[in-house]
Amino acid sequence: MAESIVENLKFILQRIENACIESDRNTNEVRLLLATKTVSAENIKIAINAGQPLIAENKVQELKEKYESLKSVPHESHFIGHLQTNKIKDILRCDVSCIQSLDRLDLAQKLHQRLLYEQKTMDVLIQVNTSDEESKFGVHPDDAVELICQVSKFETLKIKGLMTIGVFSAETEKVRKCFRLLKQIQQEVIVLDIPNVEMKELSMGMSGDLETAIEEGATIVRVGTAIFGQRIYPDSYYWDENKK
Ligand SMILES: *Cc1c(COP(=O)(O)O)cnc(C)c1O
Repeated sequence: MAESIVENLKFILQRIENACIESDRNTNEVRLLLATKTVSAENIKIAINAGQPLIAENKVQELKEKYESLKSVPHESHFIGHLQTNKIKDILRCDVSCIQSLDRLDLAQKLHQRLLYEQKTMDVLIQVNTSDEESKFGVHPDDAVELICQVSKFETLKIKGLMTIGVFSAETEKVRKCFRLLKQIQQEVIVLDIPNVEMKELSMGMSGDLETAIEEGATIVRVGTAIFGQRIYPDSYYWDENKK
């Protein structure tokens, strides 16, 4: 297992590098994030020790379970799943440095209240549903700018950019459309020059579509399967509002 994780990592880094070369980008503009849902702490450590310190969970429960075991290895932890407001205290206890899945005002409000109380700040990305699939989380593209304006008022929340999950399709052009839409929203927001809003990060692209995402400007690609192998749960378990 250890060997295959390290091998897979090398292969993914090569794919990232090739995609950067293809699209005339500097390799250091794109960070690899390890999507670690269902992966054991032991296997996550292997990847961190192989030089990949950025990891992310989808469920607060899993984050909590692995938190203690991972404490001993220096790493950075993001959150990429649907966050229920009653889990905010838990997530803040687990040293998450960025919530990439902020997609609604009530969550922002409650996060802000808790952060104020704890005298902390939190980096966030706004998750946009670019694929028009009801089952996926994220603010509707038409409502993204408004949400960003509202969230920018909460001084404990530091908006760093946008996140999306592209449509699942073998047709690259359909996937590309999702990533282009995210980039377009980023550009719209930049023009507005909203105080307390940075739009540097575009978190998009996964095992199957990271090349397309990099071509369209991704700064963070989130990879699970291609490093850790297939998961037993279908992704709908993590992504579908009806199956949480
Ligand atoms: C699981 C997951 C990924 C990684 O997907 P893979 O296809 O396994 O690479 C990326 N982003 C999110 C939000 C995920 O839940």
